Amino acid sequence: MLVAVEEVANKSFDYVVIGGGNAGLPLAVRLSEDPTVSVLLLEAGDANLNHVEILRPGSFIRHFFGKEYVYPYMTNKQLFLNNSVRPWFRGKGLGGSAAVNFQLWMRPPAEEVNDLERLGNAGWNWDDFQRLIRKVERFYPPTTEVQQRLNSDCNNWNLGSDDLKLQQTVLNSGIELACNPLGGDPTGTFFAPCTYDPTTHTRAYPTTAYYLPNKERLNLKVLVFARGNRLITTKELDGSIVATAVELDHGGQIYTVNVTREVVLSSGTLKSPHILELSGIGRKDVLEKIHVPLKLELPGLGENVQEHLLIAISYEIRDDVQFDTIDLLRDYPELVEKHAELRTSGEGIFTMGLTNATFASVDTISSKARAIIQGARDAILAKIESYSSALQEQYKIQLERLENGAPSCEIVSFPGLSTMYNPPKFGKRYLTLAVGLNHPFSRGTIHSLSSDPAVDPEFDPHYLDHDIDLHIMTELVKFTRGLSRISPLKDVIAKEHNPGQGVQTDEEIREWIRDRCSSFWHTAGSCSMLPQASDGVVDEKLKVHGTTNIRVADLSILPLHFVGHPSSFVYYIAEKGAEIIKATRSDEQVKDL
Ligand SMILES: Cc1cc2nc3c(=O)[nH]c(=O)nc-3n(C[C@H](O)[C@H](O)[C@H](O)COP(=O)(O)OP(=O)(O)OC[C@H]3O[C@@H](n4cnc5c(N)ncnc54)[C@H](O)[C@@H]3O)c2cc1C
Repeated sequence: MLVAVEEVANKSFDYVVIGGGNAGLPLAVRLSEDPTVSVLLLEAGDANLNHVEILRPGSFIRHFFGKEYVYPYMTNKQLFLNNSVRPWFRGKGLGGSAAVNFQLWMRPPAEEVNDLERLGNAGWNWDDFQRLIRKVERFYPPTTEVQQRLNSDCNNWNLGSDDLKLQQTVLNSGIELACNPLGGDPTGTFFAPCTYDPTTHTRAYPTTAYYLPNKERLNLKVLVFARGNRLITTKELDGSIVATAVELDHGGQIYTVNVTREVVLSSGTLKSPHILELSGIGRKDVLEKIHVPLKLELPGLGENVQEHLLIAISYEIRDDVQFDTIDLLRDYPELVEKHAELRTSGEGIFTMGLTNATFASVDTISSKARAIIQGARDAILAKIESYSSALQEQYKIQLERLENGAPSCEIVSFPGLSTMYNPPKFGKRYLTLAVGLNHPFSRGTIHSLSSDPAVDPEFDPHYLDHDIDLHIMTELVKFTRGLSRISPLKDVIAKEHNPGQGVQTDEEIREWIRDRCSSFWHTAGSCSMLPQASDGVVDEKLKVHGTTNIRVADLSILPLHFVGHPSSFVYYIAEKGAEIIKATRSDEQVKDL
């Protein structure tokens, strides 16, 4: 239940979870299933319950304009993006980024989940992912009528084409249907599911799925507008760190809450490392700079940051083609009400999603693939001595993925113009093909700039630090543009809007990527789950190395990025985290007997 600050200040809780997002909210709800424990969830944003902007699907990007829904984070200047900055917006409020995301639901490839175990994390594998994701997913196949119209067979996932015939175009380009994209291999093209409740035609996310059905639980207290600042810790005789309390800011006042069992950081990849650093945990050089006394040295904290890179190619649709896009809502605001009404019965623009997904290997999209892969191998080998042994291990796996045809290259459709740098023409409709690099070699950092919790850390993704990333993106842009010359897509397009005719040669494409690429909003790795000797931050039980009762459970723990959109994996982290914590408590209870 939502509580006032007076109900929690100076009180003690068995578990304090900091961050009520995609991971933190499900995890807190799961912990509170045991009525004998007390759980406090601190969320920096509002509860945002029953907000139509969140619940109404198809409201892509609109959240970016309301400060109540997102943090308008920006990266620092990126050397290889012509010294420009990029937005790194993140969801704020209960549900976190899952409240504002684009609702595409995917599962990562089985092999890439198994790679987590290979990197030293026993128990993190595809079988385990499947076991726990079943607790999260409820799949509603399209109606028989829709399946027939799309020439689909959901049982086998042989889903067919869409209204703009994009999928048929991809098939005609030589890419095959992904027969079972949720079964561990998303290679190919398919119609992706969305986190959509077909009974209410609203967004399904942690607030609706976990919190609201359990909001009356007396042992689950949720304090919103509560920013966790830092952990107050002591040291055990063996030197390990114990969290005893959490300092938080609520309405500009500082409070503390006491912790009797564990603290779980679920503030997301961008903020969990920040809280640890302000608590004296992290890199010595960073803490010295911000004048925070070092309590526990963890050189990997805030390092190994990985982000899927995106660039949007867009086309103007011919006037005589029947297809509504979200551009109509921008140009004709009077249509918003009509489509809002249509949405309540599952129709209209607000029920559109980013459902047309394609994942392919570099070999599939480029005749230069072999040269690119050899170039990648040579470039990594040339600098191998400068990489830590942990990064060498990651690069070994990444090179294997390239060699073995992993589907690193993504194309996902967006029903409208998703960028504003080249403004749309009034009354025109657009199709955007967002292309994504899913296995970046570049590694970024997230580190605090001040001991003041109100000052955001520096977000430095090191975009395109590795030429390999730029080469693959360039080939992917060329391949994707080629789709517009293939029927049936060719027949519905009036002309290319972005990048446009002025961008033709490889060098022009590279320059366009440097100028216009952006985040895919999937940042991971800042609290990587790896052995301590490999510069890990948490172990396979999500416990921060060198501590007795501090865990991290959010996308920051992912040590090596996988193909696809990560929300399902974040739910997995939450479910697994809750299971681990409950098992720890049971073990202790047995010992106490
Ligand atoms: C715009 C956008 C579109 C996306 N589209 C998709 C998609 O279509 N499909 C998909 O699978 N994935 C998508 N993603 C990615 C996915 O939503 C995120 O990776 C995932 O939700 C991250 O979960 P998390 O729990 O790690 O962090 P979050 O969900 O971001 O949760 C962090 C929470 O912590 C809170 N918090 C932060 N600091 C503090 C503090 N100091 N004290 C207290 N609380 C704090 C925040 O307010 C937030 O609620 C998208 C992400 C974005 C931003």
